[in-house]
Amino acid sequence: MDSLRINKIVADNGLPKFRKGQLTKAFFSEAVDSFNEITTFSKDLREKLTEQENVLTVTLHKLYSSTAKNAHKALLKLEDGKLIETVLLNPKPGLWTTCISSQIGCALACDFCATGTMGWIRNLTSEEITDQVLFWRFFMKQELKDIQLNNVVYMGMGEPLHNKKEVFKSLDELMNPDTFNMGARHLSVSTVGLLPAMKELTDKYPQVNLAISFHAPNDEIRLGMMPINKPYPIDKLLEGIAYHLDKTNRKIFIEYILLDGKNDSEANAFELGRKLKTLGKKHLIHINLIVYNKTDKDLEATSRDQAQLFKRKIEEQGLSITIRKNLGRDIHGACGQLALKEPNSVKATRSSIEEILK
Ligand code: SF4
Repeated sequence: MDSLRINKIVADNGLPKFRKGQLTKAFFSEAVDSFNEITTFSKDLREKLTEQENVLTVTLHKLYSSTAKNAHKALLKLEDGKLIETVLLNPKPGLWTTCISSQIGCALACDFCATGTMGWIRNLTSEEITDQVLFWRFFMKQELKDIQLNNVVYMGMGEPLHNKKEVFKSLDELMNPDTFNMGARHLSVSTVGLLPAMKELTDKYPQVNLAISFHAPNDEIRLGMMPINKPYPIDKLLEGIAYHLDKTNRKIFIEYILLDGKNDSEANAFELGRKLKTLGKKHLIHINLIVYNKTDKDLEATSRDQAQLFKRKIEEQGLSITIRKNLGRDIHGACGQLALKEPNSVKATRSSIEEILK
């Protein structure tokens, strides 16, 4: 459900304009999850709309909740039967963040990523993207009696900027004061660095947080992990980051997944720090170290001690860094793992990076 569909429901059913406000209030302010519960509507109208429409474009297929109840992961079924994953996290009391998907599968085939092994299947529509947020608001109302969802991060299945058009529409909807009414600073987009689209994101949405999947200190290692490094090597990526920093003067988040023996040495930490310092705005750079969740690939997570050493070597260079808290490890898994395990999960054939970027 989004503002466009509400307009369509009102127009298609010849409803008076004030019904639009009632529908919007019910779904977005009160997290009412069915037409049948909209008490300002007559019984006939409620039944007619229930017959005619689903409130969400997604339905719950499976839900996994951590024992500490601070992480919930949902496998959602779309109207064409395909599955996506979305996560709700509660990193501290009163703070709720959802991580949402933007594509089914992903074409970019990063080495360490379960979603990447599926190939690209299709882009999500803007409504399918924002419905993940609405799904969690409905969930929160039922399970937690609270609908205050604070942050949305585009870090689930897919590369958001490979689905730029629908992702930008979904950002507009999340910031729409009539519906989700979220501030841009509560939204974050994570990208491997599709540079033209990244620049457009910076220009159009300077207040939206940008996270860069950096993951390696040099081209040789990065290319071995991320095919996207071929068209967009680290020098170009740094140019894109510099553009963002100049334009927004806002903090940028550098995501770095630690893989044992691959990118986690002291030398790697020095090289990463040195490269990032060339940007010249140390106070605007924050590095998030990510603990690897094992996929079927032949990769291992870095030990806790080595992660601490890597962190120290970055700090010694005057950069800010944290090891991301791994909430709900018992349910979380790497993004894409749950969808892949489903019996009818689909895999696409691979395209080359050049074809993808056409
Ligand atoms: S890490 Fe992101 S861009 Fe890379 S394959 Fe996975 S979903 Fe795609």
